This record gives sequence, C-alpha cells and structure tokens, in this order.
Amino acid sequence: GPSKEELLARRKAVLNPGIFLLYKDPFYPVQGYMQYLWDETGKRYLDAFGGICTVSVGHCHPEVTAAITAQAGMIQHAPTCYLHPAVVEFAESLVSTFPDPLKRVYFVNSGSEANDLAILMARLFTDHHEVISLRNCYHGGNAVGMSLTGHHTWKYPVPPMPGFQHAKAPHPIWGPIRYDTPGAGRDYAAEIQQLIQFGTSGKIAAFIAEPMQGVGGTVPYPSDYLEHAYAHVRAAGGVCIADEVQTGFGRTGTHFWGFENYGVTPDIVVMAKSIGNGFPLAAVVTTDEIAAKMSERIHFNTFGGDPLAMVAGKATLDVMLRDDTMGHCKLIGDRLITGLKSLQSRFPIIADVRGSGLILGVEFVIDRQPATAFTADFFERCKDHGLIVGKGGLFGSVIRIKPPMCLTEADADFLLGVFAEVLAELS
Ligand code: PMP
Repeated sequence: GPSKEELLARRKAVLNPGIFLLYKDPFYPVQGYMQYLWDETGKRYLDAFGGICTVSVGHCHPEVTAAITAQAGMIQHAPTCYLHPAVVEFAESLVSTFPDPLKRVYFVNSGSEANDLAILMARLFTDHHEVISLRNCYHGGNAVGMSLTGHHTWKYPVPPMPGFQHAKAPHPIWGPIRYDTPGAGRDYAAEIQQLIQFGTSGKIAAFIAEPMQGVGGTVPYPSDYLEHAYAHVRAAGGVCIADEVQTGFGRTGTHFWGFENYGVTPDIVVMAKSIGNGFPLAAVVTTDEIAAKMSERIHFNTFGGDPLAMVAGKATLDVMLRDDTMGHCKLIGDRLITGLKSLQSRFPIIADVRGSGLILGVEFVIDRQPATAFTADFFERCKDHGLIVGKGGLFGSVIRIKPPMCLTEADADFLLGVFAEVLAELS
C-alpha cells in the first residue's frame, strides 16, 4: 500500500476534516487476526479496543469470514420486503438471548439509527413525545442521537431537537455521591423523578440509558439505580430503553445483556457494534405490544436485514454462544481488574478501576483534577509499546479497555506489563 506520509496527504486532500484520526502519529493497520493487528511496517499490536468496542469475536474470525464469503457469492443484497431465510434465522437466534417479553426485532445499520428507531417506537406506543437521557451519555451522531447524547462530544451552535432533556447521572469521582456508593441508586433516580415533575408535561415517552456509560468513561451505576429510575419513568407513562451498543453480547462477563446486571427488564433494547463483529449492523428488540404499533404504518430501511449483514451477525452470535465468550470475558476481566488494582496501589495517579468483564475503565487523576494531558500521553505511549486502547470520559481522563472477547491470559498480562512500563516512564 501507499506510505503513511502519502496516505496522510491524500486523506487530507479528500476527506471531510471532521473525520478525525485518533493518534498524533496515526495508526495504519493493514492486517487483523483475532485480537491482533499489524501495521504497515509489520509491527504487531494487541488490540484492546476492538475498533471502538466493535470487533467482538476477533478480527477476521475465520467462521465470520467464511459466512460472509459464502453469502457474497449467492445474493449480496435483498430488501426485507422479499423473503430471505438469513434474516429470519438470525432474528430467531438473536431473540433467543432475550428474556420475555423482548421477542421482536427490527434490523438497521448503526447504533445511531437504532436509537432513532427506538425513540420513534416509544413515541408511537406511548403517544407522548418527551424523552429523558442522562448527562455524560452517548447515543449517536444523527439528529436524534445528538439530541440524546449528554456527553459534550456534540457541541454545535444548533439547538437540540425539542423534547430531549438530560437528567443528572451517577458519575465516578466527580459527583457528590460516588457511582458505586451502596444505596445511592435511589437518590440518583430521584433526579429523574424531579426532572419529570418540574421539567416536562408529566407524561414522557421514554427514558434511555446505557447499562454502563461507554464513551462517557465506562461508568456503571449503583446496583439499584435502574430499578428506581425505571419505576419513575413507568409511573409517567414512559417506556424504558436500554442502549446495549457497548454493553451487550456478554461483554460484562456476568450476563448476556448489561441490563440484566441490574435486575431490570427494559421495554426496548438497542444494539450495534459487537453484533456484527465489525460488519455494519444494528437492531432494536422490543415487545409484541410495542412492535405492533409499527405495523400501523410503513417503516422501511433499505439495507437493514441485508443477507450479508445477517450471516455476519448469525456467525458472530454462533461463535459467542458456542465458545461461551461471556464466561471468557469474566475470566480475563477478573485477571485484568486484579492486575489494574495492584497497579493502582503502586501508582496513585490511578484514581479508579471500574467496569466488569471486558469493558473496563481506568481513570487518571492528579491533585483531584482529571489528568487529561497525562491520559493523552499514556494513550499514545501504549501504541508505541504495541498496545491499542481507547480513551474517553467527560474530561478525556479515562483509558478504556474493550478488546475482542478472545483476549487470552497472556494478552492480559502483556497489557498489564505495558501499563506498568508506561506509568513508570511518565512518573
Ligand atoms: N450508543 C452507544 C452506547 C454508542 O457507544 C454508540 C457509538 N459509540 C452509538 C450508540 C452510536 O453508534 P453508531 O456509531 O454505530 O451510530
């Protein structure tokens, strides 16, 4: 391929500059296999970010590649208004992972589209329009996604669409009450009740939350938070939406769906990223009752449910279920958490280690301030050491670990070794 310099120059000349590059010295991967990536010089990296929490069973997983290749030679595109077995087969296996009454699926192509559709479903079903999401959340880059998003990623001089509001949410370290304080869930949920009472007509269409905030910096909630939040939402006639774009498919290591970790059942569930192992694919799963409202109108999506995407999704899910990738996430996640906590005792700049399974966050704080510049350096240096991680949080002070779920114990130890070296270099 072209040299890095040439590619950079050509990219600069033709791409919209809004399409940013993550590293100061840009990363140029040319080959991927399972949890590893190779750059244009042949250097190997451990990928502990999986795209952005997207490559779930592994880069170019042989079974997913075989399924896509076989389908590509038969029919690549067929709209869902024709009969095709691939869409039915994947839908059946996908809904089998959900508790009752979540049994109806609508396929789209991205997390943003899925959230847009979920809000439409909530509005049609409730006949209300007001929607509540959380501060620091991320739900997408289309008009609805940006209106829902409470993280400051989106700051345009354009007002959000009317009807979207953000409730104060549990936030690690920076909130008056820590996100993991036992019993804090009731107090945080009261923020939603207050917003409904004083900031809306009293009747809302929906409340949406990620079971663990992803872009926001891997932020879980107090264990009783969603239960109380959902009760306030349902009392106002609203439905509850779980955005499982990052937390789904067993990544938390304890349940297949992030919401199950809180003992709640949402009315609508949104998923993307891991679902296709990198193939553009997303879905909204809901109940019979809510889905029935969609049949009163026509709702259409050209690429949603495409045979190629469906076989990619089915092959990915088959691997997850057969290989118990969820159990594996728990095993490797626990090893990482133990290692990260032991680093925390040596390096006080690590203020917090949080998350579970293979969705983890490490927050850096200096003098009670978010260590934004330090985190940026840490992030770059990990790459120099052959490790790709993510970065996020409200202040860019969180390193995010969301690798393909095939990470081994040796890979986990390599990651911990790189963290220790980089921490020592920067101390
Ligand atoms: N929801 C969550 C929780 C996400 O993390 C993202 C993407 N980062 C989205 C929605 C939007 O997904 P997409 O980029 O596929 O539109």
